[in-house]
Amino acid sequence: MKPATPPVDPHGRTINYMRLSVTDRCNLRCAYCMPAEGVPMRSHADILPYEDLLRISRAAISLGMEKIRVTGGEPLVRKGIVRFLERLSSLPGLRRLVLTTNGVLLREMAADLKNAGVESLNISIDSLRPDTFARITRCGDLRQVLEGIEAVERAGFPFVKFNVVVMRGVNDDEVADFAALTVDRPYRVRFIEYMPTLPREDGKDLTVPGEELLRRLSERFRLQPVGREKLTGPAAYWRIEGAAGMVGVITPVSCHFCRECNRIRVTSTGMAKGCLFDGDGVDLKPFLRAEGDDALRRALRGVIESKPERHSLGEGPDQRSALPMSEVGG
Ligand code: SAM
Ligand code: SF4
Ligand code: SF4
Repeated sequence: MKPATPPVDPHGRTINYMRLSVTDRCNLRCAYCMPAEGVPMRSHADILPYEDLLRISRAAISLGMEKIRVTGGEPLVRKGIVRFLERLSSLPGLRRLVLTTNGVLLREMAADLKNAGVESLNISIDSLRPDTFARITRCGDLRQVLEGIEAVERAGFPFVKFNVVVMRGVNDDEVADFAALTVDRPYRVRFIEYMPTLPREDGKDLTVPGEELLRRLSERFRLQPVGREKLTGPAAYWRIEGAAGMVGVITPVSCHFCRECNRIRVTSTGMAKGCLFDGDGVDLKPFLRAEGDDALRRALRGVIESKPERHSLGEGPDQRSALPMSEVGG
């Protein structure tokens, strides 16, 4: 079967990428992602079974989605995830299956993920200092993540991407240390602007604009622009002269990448969203009850057709309610 041509939304953007959250549960409690008291967990009955997530993926692929990123919560805590990934990666028409993880379980699971057909991993790691790491994650042990990264390299993934959410006064003094990791190893270290998705008074002050980050990095290293990757999204990349890897900057707050937004999201409870800040989104569950995938395809097409042009994060007073990223998958 010839793969479908990816759909184009009303703002002229080609939509070829779905982020699929498989759980809202997590083995960490990152301060930027969840409130201190945690978020009320969905009951098991609300979480879609793998069979439904596969149906949604099949419908999305038949509409032209070429890449699926599995995320969470922490996707690796869901039971049966490896078998699910195996089935997902063998859906005809899917060009790339990738996964975002906090790395805690990678020491045991990296080789299985590679064998299941996961092409690459994004590992979230916000500090190289054990005490800062523990403070940001509210309970994490940096050593587990570092051992996970070693396991990923042994498993033969072609490169590893790191996601570093940069927060002023918390970990922004570590950006040069993170960038230095790319000199000898083919790592892609991506600095992400902190998004004030949870109501907290100092929220906006925590964001370090990408431009400032780059200025700071260029004071320390000679950086050469590399450009953006195809089939991915928002990171712009630079290479430290002579380095094996690259540093990237993702600027969801200071410099909207909405113009190039190529994605939709589906949560573990079956809510489809054209935009991260789309409120509750469209409930796919009623469409899952229909026979065949046509209704599901129509619902997903509707989500693409109502994708907003941009967000207004960081502009004016914040009227939004809390958006725990563990529910939407980042
Ligand atoms: N648990 C996995 C992990 O942490 O990689 C996957 C889910 S997590 C919600 C996905 C991504 O969202 C992570 O890279 C995380 O750093 C990012 N994220 C969560 N809250 C954020 C925020 N307020 N600002 C920027 N990035 C955020
Ligand atoms: Fe969990 Fe990922 Fe959110 Fe951290 S960022 S609390 S690891 S879901
Ligand atoms: Fe896309 Fe919405 Fe994110 Fe903009 S804010 S890049 S439209 S998901």
